[in-house]
Amino acid sequence: MGFRQSSAGPMDTEQMTPLVAIVGRPNVGKSTLFNRLVGKKLALVDDTPGVTRDRRMGEARLGDLRFRAMDTAGLEDADPASLAGRMRAQTEAALADADVILFVIDARAGVVQQDEHFADVARRSQRPVILVTNKAEGRAGEGGIYESFSLGLGDPVPISAEHGEGMADLYEALRQAFEKLGRDNPEEDDLIDEAITGVEIDEDGNTIGDDPLRPLRIAVAGRPNAGKSTLINALIGEERLLTGPEAGITRDAITVDWVWGGREVKLFDTAGMRRKARVQEKLEKLSVADGLRAVKFAEIVVVLLDATIPFEKQDLHIADLVIREGRGLVIGLNKWDLIEDRSAKLRELREEADRLLPQARGMPLVTLSGLTGQGLDRLMDACVKAYDLWNTRISTGRLNRWMSALIEHHPPPAVSGRRLKLRYMTQAKTRPPHFVVFCTRPDAVPESYQRYMVNGLRETFEMPGVPIRLHVKSSG
Ligand code: GDP
Ligand code: GDP
Repeated sequence: MGFRQSSAGPMDTEQMTPLVAIVGRPNVGKSTLFNRLVGKKLALVDDTPGVTRDRRMGEARLGDLRFRAMDTAGLEDADPASLAGRMRAQTEAALADADVILFVIDARAGVVQQDEHFADVARRSQRPVILVTNKAEGRAGEGGIYESFSLGLGDPVPISAEHGEGMADLYEALRQAFEKLGRDNPEEDDLIDEAITGVEIDEDGNTIGDDPLRPLRIAVAGRPNAGKSTLINALIGEERLLTGPEAGITRDAITVDWVWGGREVKLFDTAGMRRKARVQEKLEKLSVADGLRAVKFAEIVVVLLDATIPFEKQDLHIADLVIREGRGLVIGLNKWDLIEDRSAKLRELREEADRLLPQARGMPLVTLSGLTGQGLDRLMDACVKAYDLWNTRISTGRLNRWMSALIEHHPPPAVSGRRLKLRYMTQAKTRPPHFVVFCTRPDAVPESYQRYMVNGLRETFEMPGVPIRLHVKSSG
């Protein structure tokens, strides 16, 4: 079974206009939107369940935009006995040709589980996705609009396909998406896709984080002489003893595939990379460049310090980069074998770390020695834990209960006599966790209150060291 390819013909002359696919679970209003964009009642109405329909295509216009629209209604429920997987396969196939995806949900119903399935399909297509919250006329759709941030597909465009509301915003979203099409630099395209969809894409063009079997990506960065090469050799050497030389270790590669405690790890070997590149730049300059590459590659970055001369300017520079890029940060206090009064030193470094890097308060500090091999297990444990925290997802219910309690305890300040109202909160994205707070006047929420919220989140939901993102948006 399946759907027939739409016949070649009139559409061929339209090859140059972008193809926009309208995707979503049944009944969210895809056909209604399609009809509005195409301008005539082209879409068949067929209420018989189980009837496989053609993909409906039409020449669409919105303002001065011309494009082809594809309605996937009917594909999603083509087989009455179909499971989510079958429905997805149908829609997925239909998306192969699309340039841009309008992912539609019903703002009145909010986000339901089936929406998540289709959001996944949209994400996997690796096309730019515009999140459309339909049926948003009146106030009944408000909750659903807030909730839709949790899909991680960027800011929603609220519309009413039936009443023609929100078309200017949809126009703007499409215009921006079209503008970015047709660039032939795939890396740039990936960055753009990320910007549009909020989904990170790795250098192979795969979305990061969808595949639980994907190896954990760790990089070790740090100043020259911090002990990176020694550490990596120690890490890999240890595993080699356990697994034998056939474990797929290629020492000269830039990345080292490796298994630690049964978990697949891709280790980014900055020192190896430098040997390979044979660049003659100054070492200091290089270590920052290394840091940059490590950050691009990795999910978790170990910033390795020489504990005898910790938190030098360059160390802080690299750590700051890691935090700003939203990667998980683990501080390795190397050469611990040279430290005498260890507990006093550790207390001192803990205090210093939180003071110098307050954006990642509570980050893991692991004492170790690459030379003696002490602390390597604890380092890897810390990386895995940081990775899990980086993937934290907190339910909307818990967040809003937390926010109510927070407001009660410490309300946001009144601005020019009027109380600021925080109305709703949701998590928009993981890796690292992004939260969105909706309030009456976003501009009036002081930085200090935002920091207070971030620190509160970090504490209550136990995310020490995680670079938490908080966005304040207007609740309209
Ligand atoms: P599809 O299955 O996703 O193609 O959904 P349809 O376009 O067939 O619409 C499903 C139902 O939602 C119909 O009863 C539409 O009239 C209704 N609908 C579509 N758009 C809107 C809207 O903007 N507001 C409201 N209130 N209802 C809508
Ligand atoms: P990289 O430039 O960061 O790759 O640093 P290296 O791994 O080349 O190490 C720099 C120097 O520090 C070398 O002389 C190492 O032997 C020494 N070193 C590395 N790790 C340790 C350690 O844990 N303890 C001690 N005492 N020396 C270390």
